Amino acid sequence: MIIRMRASVAERIREFRQRCRAAGLALTPQRETIFRAVVESQGHPSPEQIYERVKRQIPAISLATVYKNIHTFLAAGLLQEVTPHHGALLLESNPEQHHHLVCAGCRAILDLEQDAIDPVRFRRKPPAGYRILRQRVEILALCPDCARKQTQNSSHA
Ligand SMILES: [Zn+2]
Ligand SMILES: [Zn+2]
Repeated sequence: MIIRMRASVAERIREFRQRCRAAGLALTPQRETIFRAVVESQGHPSPEQIYERVKRQIPAISLATVYKNIHTFLAAGLLQEVTPHHGALLLESNPEQHHHLVCAGCRAILDLEQDAIDPVRFRRKPPAGYRILRQRVEILALCPDCARKQTQNSSHA
């Protein structure tokens, strides 16, 4: 599913520079390369995958440095985690509001456009004292590959 109106990489880099300045973060070429690698990724890259991309441009960089910068970006709100309760850290490369279709077999995560799902609304007030930051629907499914495998397995049984 294609997300429409996706901000261009150049726009997001421009916004990144502004927000670094606003957050008082030093704007180093290294930081920008790491951020760019996330923006240019498809889907939900792990820090290791970002490291592999960044290494092509900065061969001397370490995985620890990539991690450290990613955590700085997360803390400053420049990047978002796919979900805070995931075992491993995965980064969201898609800045648009969207939902997720998660495969229960291989854990692949597919973005769903915001308007693919009926709007989510609280029927009652949220629990007292909570400020809602983001509403995201996570739909558990089997991807075509995993669905096929399961059908094969059950037909052998
Ligand atoms: Zn799957
Ligand atoms: Zn996503």
